[in-house]
Amino acid sequence: MRKVLIMEDEENIRSFVVINLKRAGYQAVEAATGQEALDKLRENPDIGVAILDIMLPDIDGFEVCRRIRATNKQMGIIMLTARTQEMDKVTGLMTGADDYVTKPFSPAELTARIDALFRRIGGDNSGDDELLVQGPFVMNTRNHTLEKAGSRIRLTQVEYSILKLFMQNPGRALSREDILSGVWGREYEGELKIVDVNIRRLRIKIEDDTANPTYITTVWGFGYKWGI
Ligand code: CA
Repeated sequence: MRKVLIMEDEENIRSFVVINLKRAGYQAVEAATGQEALDKLRENPDIGVAILDIMLPDIDGFEVCRRIRATNKQMGIIMLTARTQEMDKVTGLMTGADDYVTKPFSPAELTARIDALFRRIGGDNSGDDELLVQGPFVMNTRNHTLEKAGSRIRLTQVEYSILKLFMQNPGRALSREDILSGVWGREYEGELKIVDVNIRRLRIKIEDDTANPTYITTVWGFGYKWGI
């Protein structure tokens, strides 16, 4: 069964999420503190998606996210943010989260986000066994790995999916809507900003000079273009 970690110190929110995860067919692992979340993740290496609250009594959700990402690029991570903390979304994504959900949220919204991440992680790889080679970049779509000039670049699943979309469409301007629906799925109703934040993170990892990106260029008022 697909396993999801829910880290949240407020017991009623946590129970609400657990009930809805179970109803959606997921196995829920609960944690009330950051330390407990890290312990549970170690005990359950098969957790596919983690939902991380930001405000916790011990370590904050961003730090938990950072620690997960230090060793695990594959896991899907969703941050729970408060409506008033707009910057949390950007900070969360910059620390390696894949998505965020704003409190209060509906069960349907949360499970849709989790489903989308599991689709990314487990992605159907049939007919997908190939290398994409462009300029200094070699992407192995079977192993989901990327090398630049022979050095491995570690990407999150979402970053990988965006880059794959670019490498499959070299020289073509992709709108932010194209990227959102191509990577997160057509039914996804997230905000376009999530595309920009992921692109910013991706540029830090792959560009020679992040201030003057040459691989992922901005098409003003439209989106982005991949060019070598
Ligand atoms: Ca909290």
